[in-house]
Amino acid sequence: MKIHEYQAKTILARHGIPIPEGRPAFSPEEARKVAEEMGAQGYVVKAQVHAGGRGKAGGVKRASTLDEVEAAARTIMEKPLVTAQSGPEGKKVNRLLVEQAVPFKQELYLGITVDRSSAAPVLIMSTAGGMEIEEVAAKQPELILKETVHPLTGLVPFQCRNLNFSLGFGAGTIKELTQLLNQAYEVFMKYDCSLVEVNPLVLTEDDHFLALDAKINFDDNASYRHKELAELRDPDEEDPLEREASEFNLNYIRLDGNVGAMVNGAGLAMATMDLIKQAGAEPANFLDVGGGANVEMITAGFKIILGDSRVRAILINIFGGILRCDVLAQGVIEAAKTVKIQVPLIVRLQGTNVEEGRKMLMESGLDFQVAETINDAAKLVAAAVNA
Ligand code: ADP
Ligand code: MG
Repeated sequence: MKIHEYQAKTILARHGIPIPEGRPAFSPEEARKVAEEMGAQGYVVKAQVHAGGRGKAGGVKRASTLDEVEAAARTIMEKPLVTAQSGPEGKKVNRLLVEQAVPFKQELYLGITVDRSSAAPVLIMSTAGGMEIEEVAAKQPELILKETVHPLTGLVPFQCRNLNFSLGFGAGTIKELTQLLNQAYEVFMKYDCSLVEVNPLVLTEDDHFLALDAKINFDDNASYRHKELAELRDPDEEDPLEREASEFNLNYIRLDGNVGAMVNGAGLAMATMDLIKQAGAEPANFLDVGGGANVEMITAGFKIILGDSRVRAILINIFGGILRCDVLAQGVIEAAKTVKIQVPLIVRLQGTNVEEGRKMLMESGLDFQVAETINDAAKLVAAAVNA
């Protein structure tokens, strides 16, 4: 689960990490009011969306007066914010963070995540913090410093000193940096995070550290341990089809193409997507209905595909094992009763109760094409969308 910058900053601050003064606002008028109450020398108005790269995309604006704050807020909220991470359609901005503008002399990068190869948390820091960090990581990897943390010992002081000196600082910053890294690590562990990122972490004119940006992602597998985090969820940031799918325990991921695909088993779903691409088309989604899918789940899954307006053809590729082909057929027929199928439907069924499943589909009056192999199915569906 992802949360907004202002929510992440609140969590960091609660654990002792210094952040600039700031408050969320939900409209340009409120942004003005918040700024007026804060009464700072200068302000930064920041779009709160679950996508990075806001600064470069015009989602972070400086303002000196209350009028400028309101105008900046209006410009940011006016249209969807398209960043390098938002996807081409961008993100609608419903919330802002109005923050005091802080002068600083250096922007650093700080991230904590799980390093899969060492199976341990890793602290990542760089002097090249700010808006170019992805490029730095790709072109000058030597500027990225790493300290792997042994989960049993936790972060130990020499690792903080290592980072401090490798960043080019003298002894004067050790105490504060060590404290800050421990606080960030505490947040990472306590909330079962997959990412705690502060970019930039700045060094102020008087040599103190301050978190100017914050990103926290939580590991959903541990969400049962953190009921208190549920209130931080922002449903506006979630894809409505993905949310619906999760309610039915379906593995659904939205993609950019126009071929709706319903498959059982993650491996078969991936192979199906590969073949769709090879045949010259693009999948609109990944949907693994799983082995134990019942009629309700199939119905829900098929309705989700039908509810996606971009879908121009549907491919059902089921290898009946634990999931029987007749159950699949019944689910498809149920869904088609409430949502009309207006695009070509290609069905490839094999395995348990395949004859019965096919017969049910044939007798249902649904219009569909039958494919014998996955390859044929992929070619038929590509021909349908490319027609
Ligand atoms: P993003 O990472 O999405 O681009 P940031 O919150 O990092 O958004 O903001 C982009 C840049 O704006 C930062 O790298 C920093 O230079 C500047 N910035 C952000 N917040 C402040 C602030 N409170 N005061 C001064 N500069 C800021
Ligand atoms: Mg940032």
